[in-house]
Amino acid sequence: MRYLIFSDIHGNLEALNALMKFVAKRRIDHFVCLGDLVGYGASPNECIQKVRSLHPLSMIRGNHDKAVMGLDSIETFNPVAAAAIYWTKKKILKKNAEFLTHLPKGPQVVDETFAICHGSPFDEDYYIFGEFDAAEAFDYLKLQLCFFGHTHFPFVYTKRDAAVDGTFLEGNSNEVKLEKGVTYLINPGSVGQPRDRNPRASFAIYDTDAHLIKFFRIDYDIEDAKAKILASALPPALADRLSLGI
Ligand code: ZN
Repeated sequence: MRYLIFSDIHGNLEALNALMKFVAKRRIDHFVCLGDLVGYGASPNECIQKVRSLHPLSMIRGNHDKAVMGLDSIETFNPVAAAAIYWTKKKILKKNAEFLTHLPKGPQVVDETFAICHGSPFDEDYYIFGEFDAAEAFDYLKLQLCFFGHTHFPFVYTKRDAAVDGTFLEGNSNEVKLEKGVTYLINPGSVGQPRDRNPRASFAIYDTDAHLIKFFRIDYDIEDAKAKILASALPPALADRLSLGI
């Protein structure tokens, strides 16, 4: 089986389109989205429609999906993120709002082989930033592998015996071969708002037969995505950060 693992689209249709074009030329058996379809970007409805049309699709909700639907308070959001939530709330179409409302909470098990969560396996909103957080998260894993999102950094944490190690995935292509006896917490990075100073859309393809996860960074039409943000009432800072990858 070949799974597309992607996360944190954040209303960036141009990045999502580039991803769809990339996978159209490759065999994907199952689409797996780790949450945050909306927030920040100017195309929330288009992104929801595109992702909900993928089959088969496994998906969990992100904190921005929840905040837009009023399922969570925006107290923890910074002013720019909160402004984007208010803007998205006004734009969202009823059928898309329903889709967001019914997204399940993570963690969820996909095909009985791996789990997915937005933030961490013990708290869907918790950021796994570093080995200390990862060590706690590993205590909650029942399977060898769990994918997570939320931080917008492509990252691999491993646990061998009791030792937890974290590796940031630098550059535009990486791969991880799964080893027996090792457990993994893996973040594919963000499609629509990378924050590791590499502005390219980030995602992964997991081939279960080869026990291999490949990570990709691809170019997309950032100028178009920025122009749409600047033409809307969204904070202009949200356009600038796309080209910086922050
Ligand atoms: Zn996010």
